[in-house]
Order: sequence, then C-alpha cells, then structure tokens
Amino acid sequence: MTGVASRVLKASANESPFPPLPSVLEAVATAAGRLNRYPDVQPLRIVGAIAQRFGVPEDHVAVGAGSSGLIQQLVHAFARGKDVLHGWRVFEGYPLISYATGANPIGVPLAGEDHDVDAIAAAVTERTGLIFLGSPNNPTGTVIPADDLVRLLGRLPDGVVVVLDEAYGEFVRDPAAPDTLALHRERWPNLVVLRTFSKAYGLAGLRVGYAIGSPAVIGGLRATTMPFATTTIAEAAVLASLAAEDELRTRCEAVVAARERMLAGLRERGFAPPPSGANFVWLRLGEESAAFAAACREAGVEIKCFDGEGVRITVGDPEADDIVLDVAERCRRADAGTVPVPEGA
Ligand SMILES: *Cc1c(COP(=O)(O)O)cnc(C)c1O
Repeated sequence: MTGVASRVLKASANESPFPPLPSVLEAVATAAGRLNRYPDVQPLRIVGAIAQRFGVPEDHVAVGAGSSGLIQQLVHAFARGKDVLHGWRVFEGYPLISYATGANPIGVPLAGEDHDVDAIAAAVTERTGLIFLGSPNNPTGTVIPADDLVRLLGRLPDGVVVVLDEAYGEFVRDPAAPDTLALHRERWPNLVVLRTFSKAYGLAGLRVGYAIGSPAVIGGLRATTMPFATTTIAEAAVLASLAAEDELRTRCEAVVAARERMLAGLRERGFAPPPSGANFVWLRLGEESAAFAAACREAGVEIKCFDGEGVRITVGDPEADDIVLDVAERCRRADAGTVPVPEGA
C-alpha cells in the first residue's frame, strides 16, 4: 500500500475549481440583508437578463431550480404517462427524474461514445413525449454535430419535444457544434436548450438553470414553475455573474486549456480518451475502471467511477490534474490488454 492521501481533492462532480468571484460574494452578502422579504414570485429579473444576454424575447426564456429542476418540469409538462427517450450512457438524471415524474424512460445505446441520432429517431413511437440529448454528453464529453441534430429534428413528428442539455456548453470549442440557441427560432419550435449556472459559472450550490426555446415549450415550463422557487440570494448571484461574464469566460478558457492538457497527457501515456467539449474527460476502462479510480483516490483525487464501464475525471484544478496524470503514468499502457494495476495497489 502506498497509503491513503490525507486530503482528497474532488474531481468527481464536474464543479468549477474556482471559488465564487468577489463581486458575486458581495452581491450575495447584500442580498442576505433582505432575507425577511420574499423574492419575486417568478424569477423575472433573471429571465430579463438572460433574454437580453442572448438576444431573444423574454417569452423564450424560463428559469428553474438548476437544469435538474427544469428537466423535472419538462417531463411534468410534456411526458407524464408517455415515453422519454435518451441515450445511454448519459446523465442519470434523465431516466431517474423521468421515472420519478411519471414517465417511462427508454435508453438508446450510444454509438461508441457518441449519440446515435438515427437510432433515437428510429425508436420514436406515438407514445414518445420527450427526447433528452446531452451535448456535450455527460459522461463521455462528446458533442452532437449540427448535422446530426438537424437530421434528427427533421425526422420527428410534431409534438415530440427535444431537450438539448448544454450544461457544459460554455466549454465547447468544436466548430462542428451547432448554434443551438438560434435553432428554435429558425425552424424547430420543438427544440429547447437547457443551460445552467452550476458548471461554468461556478454556482452549483445555488441551483439556477435556464431554458431557451419557443413560447409554446417555455409556456409549459412556466406553467409548472413553483412560486418563489428562486431565492433572493440565487437571484443576486446570477445577476452579478452575468455582469462579470468576462471574468467567468476567462476562467472557462483556463478549464478548456486544462482539459486539452489532460487529454494530451492521457494519450501520451497510452490511453484513448474521446475528444471532450466539457470540463471533464472520459476513459472507457471497462473492468479496469474501479482499479484506476481506487489508485486516484489513494493518490488523493476522487474521480467518478462507472463500475465496469469507465471513469470520468473533472479537470481544472492543476494539483488534481497532475496527480491523475501521475497515476496514468504508473498505469501506462505499453501494450493493449495489459491490466494497469498501479504499483502498490
Ligand atoms: C450537472 C448536470 C446537470 C445538472 O445541473 P444543475 O443545473 O446543477 O441541476 C444537468 N445536466 C447534465 C448533463 C449535467 O452534467
């Protein structure tokens, strides 16, 4: 045994490695002084700021309790008693929240690490109410190319709502990625895009996400919003974050650079991660996943293990990134088929 590290760095939940910006903390502190008052019944100030930020009318924007809250509202509004299609492996929230909200989730296997949009289109029936797509996909990190997305939209009957979850959209640098925020207005009113303040904006603890789509879909979301659900503090933090977007974008650039360094480092060490558009990388290690995750933990970094499938490593904390690359070095794959048992494990 090499001994368990005394301090464990968390690289398992795709959070921002940065603490909140000073300007955001200041806005939060000021808002805390008003906690005896109710927030707005609907978070219309955030809606207005997002509509302005993205140049869309306000009735194209809804705000919810994280994208998870919006996922639940979407199932509630459009798929109760119906089927929900999603890829697999994808974000567990799609099947779990669908099931808990009274829909029937159906997973369509990925093709390699990518969404198989033709298989998803082929799986649609008259019972299908909603389709969840993650781009970048969690945990594989892959982006759905614009061509694939448009081909899928073109094959769907009216009335099937397509949810494009872009929780990691701010980290995408792939020129083949679609300009999704424009698509619902151009031609596809059944497409709704989800974004969140939890990942790139570093506000996971405050629970604010937003949806951009056509008024028909957004109306369904607004109708299922819990009154007063967005807190005074969350509103203040979100408005301050939108005002500090340049600083936050600079942080995203650092995370993107860390991701590319991690991908290159893993490849140099004989691993084969797919390209990632997110703040994490995916290694399909199969049966070796648990051993790799255990070796990282012993070295002081918690990563996410999907036992028997792969590991997902959140990037951006240079210390954690270096430790993971050290572990990868010890597991270096000289030839395919070698079980990478780390020294001392
Ligand atoms: C993290 C994550 C979410 C949840 O985000 P919240 O806004 O914090 O609820 C949604 N979708 C995907 C794919 C995620 O990875």
